Amino acid sequence: MTEASMRFEEGEGFARRMDAEDPLRSFREEFLFPQSPQGEPLVYLAGNSLGLQPRRAQQYVQEEMEDWARLGVEGHFHARRPWLPYHENLTGQTARLVGALPLEVVVMNTLSVNLHLMMVSFYRPTRERFKILIEGGAFPSDQYAVASQARFHGFDPKDAVLKLEPRAGEDTLRTEDILETLERHGSEIALVLLGNVNYLTGQAFDMKALTQAAHARGCRVGFDLAHGAGNLRLSLHDDGPDFAVWCSYKYLNGGPGALGGVFIHERHARAEGLPRFEGWWGNDKAIRFQMGPDFVPLPGAEGWQLSNPPIFQLAALRASMELFDRATMPSLRGKGDRLTGYLEFLLDRLPSGFVRITTPRDVKARGSQLSLRFSKDPRRLLTRLSEAGVCCDFRSPDIIRAAPAPLYNSFQDVYRFVKVLESHARD
Ligand SMILES: *Cc1c(COP(=O)(O)O)cnc(C)c1O
Repeated sequence: MTEASMRFEEGEGFARRMDAEDPLRSFREEFLFPQSPQGEPLVYLAGNSLGLQPRRAQQYVQEEMEDWARLGVEGHFHARRPWLPYHENLTGQTARLVGALPLEVVVMNTLSVNLHLMMVSFYRPTRERFKILIEGGAFPSDQYAVASQARFHGFDPKDAVLKLEPRAGEDTLRTEDILETLERHGSEIALVLLGNVNYLTGQAFDMKALTQAAHARGCRVGFDLAHGAGNLRLSLHDDGPDFAVWCSYKYLNGGPGALGGVFIHERHARAEGLPRFEGWWGNDKAIRFQMGPDFVPLPGAEGWQLSNPPIFQLAALRASMELFDRATMPSLRGKGDRLTGYLEFLLDRLPSGFVRITTPRDVKARGSQLSLRFSKDPRRLLTRLSEAGVCCDFRSPDIIRAAPAPLYNSFQDVYRFVKVLESHARD
């Protein structure tokens, strides 16, 4: 079904039919759902906070546990999947997920750590060009990261951090306003750092247009894809940002505190002229274990690795990445647009004034998440949802973020969620 032909209907029969016709429906069986007190699987709409556990994750972690027990240090070479090159098991899948060359991606560390490592290389302020452009509504960790980087280089964040704000009375940023800011302040901006999608509003940006505009002004460009990886259809290589970072515990289902991912564009594969922090895992594999004094960086994103990675975390992540690879992002985004469109359709039929959708209506300007603001006793609503076996994310004072994940959510999940909202609205 194409986006233009999306036609929704109100009754539950429609949701059942959509599920029966869904070519991705079998992926739901690959996940473990937390249970409600009544012993039913939760209607889990919080995959944008912490994705569910893939069934295979335990097995994959267990295999590494066994190989550790069986082989000790020899597991580095003789495990079923040797640990020395273990992160390479994820390279192809990660590259396909984000639309990158294998050379451009690596799975390592966690998001905020990687953001700092990227800023070491890509935030190179001078007296004339020292600003960082971010969203006023950027995720707190990103705000702390940019402010501390500015201070680290001797700048006052009040001068160095430039924040984009929506127009008065609007919830999200207009592309034309971002372009205008780049036009006006571009020559002072060293780095443009945007969240895609924004964690709070669910807004997705036109990465290519913004990257080109920022590059034309001589700025470096990075994206925080914490809410983009596994959610949006990404073409990082073609869109051309200098770097991107993401975490793997939200849409990517890598488990709590899962390893993050990094993209560094091919044009920086040899890091010519870029400083970076170095560690032995970024060193040329041929000489890494000679333990010599010289660092010869691996080409591409791998050259930014510092430490040998946690194998159990990589093992758990493999389970989910295999599913993404099988389902493919274009199919997932297609179903995601139908699921989220259906949610929007049902919400629009609730009593007027009860809920306001702050996420853009244009499917190209969002992923799976809808951010909803409720006028009527939002905390009571939250309790009601959890009593009814619905799990979603609440941000004070009145925002619920609902993200049907196309890998494991169903149209019936969406239907049940809105039924609870409806009973609250009519109460
Ligand atoms: C979830 C999230 C983070 C979390 O950072 P960690 O370093 O993984 O704890 C950072 N930035 C954004 C935009 C997020 O959504």
